[in-house]
Amino acid sequence: MYAGDHNTPAVFRLEEHTDRLIRSAELVKMGLSVDKATLMAAQCAVLRENNLTEAYLRPMVFYGTEHLGLQTAPLSTHVMIGAWKWGAYFDEEAVHQGIKVCLSSYRRHDHRSVPCKAKANGLYVNSVLSLQEAAEKGCQEALLLDTEGNVAEGSSANVCIIRGNTLYTPESPHILDGITRESICVLAQDLGLSVERGTLILDDIYSADEMFFTGTAVEVAPVGEFDGKPVGSGQCGPKTRALWSAFREVTKGNNPKYSHWLTPISGE
Ligand code: PMP
Repeated sequence: MYAGDHNTPAVFRLEEHTDRLIRSAELVKMGLSVDKATLMAAQCAVLRENNLTEAYLRPMVFYGTEHLGLQTAPLSTHVMIGAWKWGAYFDEEAVHQGIKVCLSSYRRHDHRSVPCKAKANGLYVNSVLSLQEAAEKGCQEALLLDTEGNVAEGSSANVCIIRGNTLYTPESPHILDGITRESICVLAQDLGLSVERGTLILDDIYSADEMFFTGTAVEVAPVGEFDGKPVGSGQCGPKTRALWSAFREVTKGNNPKYSHWLTPISGE
């Protein structure tokens, strides 16, 4: 989550992130003993009390240690909230040039094996391995296909492409439905783009005019090269740049239309 650097420090889409945390805990069958209002207030308090005006927030639910083994019934559940200043995920030049992305040899989890809609720590072994592999190939991010061979997402970000005046992004039971992507789809419509969610195949990526990733940490990350070939112009495309800056303005609190996406950390 992002606490913007505008005059009134605020968290971007705190309510949606907290809903997803609660839903994720339910999906992996972890009972939560705190309610949404308490979780939201606690996250704001962590930022406030640590004087963090621009930070990444990471609430996590974890089991107690009453018992070892895989049976969870005897275990208590706890919540921790981490918050820290986290600079740009990709450096300025990478964003301007567009990052290099490779096709991962790992497939995204299948929803028949694990609840893919949950943001659950265990699922991130797949993300870590795919990102390690990308780094070994000199890339900053990986694109994963799902077990059916359709485009899924990045290691920790959703993927979008632009062709003509349309933004396309995968609709799939196997991916995490990102809150940033949902916000970008709204902003894209404001910029006059149509938005289509559906099955994407690799050919769609190869024929894209522009490609970018979205996520809380990466925000909007333009892709310059995929699988050794330039995407479009090989740099950040004009529509991606417009979305990148529209998103920035919203998170900084400079767009009153979306002030309801920001929760002031003052708790007022
Ligand atoms: N997919 C995965 C696997 C992720 O880890 C993330 C980051 N949370 C996303 C997509 C993007 O989600 P969001 O925009 O809600 O951060």
